[in-house]
Amino acid sequence: MATKESFKTYTENLKKYLDLDQRGKIMAEYVWIDAEGGTRSKSRTLDAKKSGVYTPEELPTWNFDGSSTGQAPGDNSDVYLKPVAVFPDPFRVNGGNIIVLSECWNADGTPNKFNNRHECAKLMETHASHKPWFGLEQEYTLLDLDDRPYGWPTNGFPAPQGPYYCGVGAGKVVQRDIVEAHYKCCLYAGIKISGTNAEVMPAQWEFQVGPCEGIEMGDHLWIARFLLSRVAEEFGAKVSFHPKPIPGDWNGAGLHSNFSTEEMRKEGGMKYIEEAIQKLSSRHKEHIAVYGENNELRLTGRHETGAIDSFTYGVANRGASIRIPRECAAKGYGYFEDRRPASNADPYNICGIMMETCFGAVKE
Ligand code: ADP
Ligand code: MN
Ligand code: MN
Ligand code: MN
Ligand code: MN
Repeated sequence: MATKESFKTYTENLKKYLDLDQRGKIMAEYVWIDAEGGTRSKSRTLDAKKSGVYTPEELPTWNFDGSSTGQAPGDNSDVYLKPVAVFPDPFRVNGGNIIVLSECWNADGTPNKFNNRHECAKLMETHASHKPWFGLEQEYTLLDLDDRPYGWPTNGFPAPQGPYYCGVGAGKVVQRDIVEAHYKCCLYAGIKISGTNAEVMPAQWEFQVGPCEGIEMGDHLWIARFLLSRVAEEFGAKVSFHPKPIPGDWNGAGLHSNFSTEEMRKEGGMKYIEEAIQKLSSRHKEHIAVYGENNELRLTGRHETGAIDSFTYGVANRGASIRIPRECAAKGYGYFEDRRPASNADPYNICGIMMETCFGAVKE
């Protein structure tokens, strides 16, 4: 089994090849979302563009074998990859190489079952005049190749929670190198990452992406997840997006979703925030249904969560479904935080239903 040390050697050896001339070609890494809520990717060679960078519209549609990813039946296995966003590739710097986020489409011209972006994009277009901003807080846990959280003793458990959140120092945090490398990769790729911190459970971390307007939120978060898995791969670590990686008295992992519209961000905005919360309260079940798998293990009403079967809100209340930040309540405008989404939720679903609940469905 590969160890963390052997992974280090692989990437050290790779370094001397990274600057080789590409003779007028670029590598394009097409990334898509799979049936398990993970990312997959494959590469192709394209001619380097004479000037500037490729737009998604200029890039070729591609395909993959959907029967190998649980995204299509074997007798009709082609799934199409439609480019929707382009980012500089932090793993292949020099040479103008790119990452190409792609939507999955079936051969019959319908969106693939796991293409949640398509519906979300329609909602964003319909309600674009509200200038919706999102900021998502992605929590995750770093596991070794035996699926044990890093830094946990082989037998038993670490000391109870307390020293780990925003912790500094040995014995409090582990794998900071992965977190730092990921942060840099996001900045290089132009992801609107807004920060990182160590979380409440040991080996648990968080990064935030936002504010992003409209569909950009899901695009940037998915690429940030892809980059994290890729960085961790090089360090020989696994990334778990499970909402309750360790049962018992340990914090789960969420995807807190901060949201505002132009009206909410202006003086008098609290009225619009309260209006939105009112609407959210009447569709609690519908939201929970798309806020991630196994979320019932996390939304217990303990460990800084609201219980899954009740909708609550409050100022500065981290045990509620919705939290209005203290500063926002004091100013009378700003944004609110939906604390219900699980770490494994699809950001397109979160942002999409937020728009639908606040402003209505798309009229066909
Ligand atoms: P918490 O205190 O809940 O841990 P964080 O600092 O981790 O909050 O995350 C706050 C998130 O809210 C960030 O991603 C930030 O970009 C986002 N955010 C800030 N202002 C707004 C706004 N007006 N609308 C939407 N999101 C916002
Ligand atoms: Mn083949
Ligand atoms: Mn946070
Ligand atoms: Mn957090
Ligand atoms: Mn939060």
